[in-house]
Amino acid sequence: MIKTCQLCDKEFNAKTKREKYCPVPCRKQAALKKQKDWAREHATKIKGYVPAYRFAKPENEEINIIPPRKPSTLDAKMNLAAAQGMTYAEMQKQETLNRAGKIQI
Ligand SMILES: [Zn+2]
Repeated sequence: MIKTCQLCDKEFNAKTKREKYCPVPCRKQAALKKQKDWAREHATKIKGYVPAYRFAKPENEEINIIPPRKPSTLDAKMNLAAAQGMTYAEMQKQETLNRAGKIQI
């Protein structure tokens, strides 16, 4: 299929429909140009500049607010342990021993 190169206007024999440039030298140049254009489009002019979208706040800020944790059973147990002058671990050990004591082997 004879096509005309979009860069140099020379005719070339394209193997597929999608080819736009003659294999030598335009295809390589076109590929490089594409890369450079992309880089220019996405370049940040100042080194270390972070695009604003990275700081963009979500539309609904409330989504990001972590609700205060509800007091759990664990909190209650830790308070109970403290009230008895024990650490939670010590109370857990005591509880386990009490429970194990009930098991008949
Ligand atoms: Zn060409």
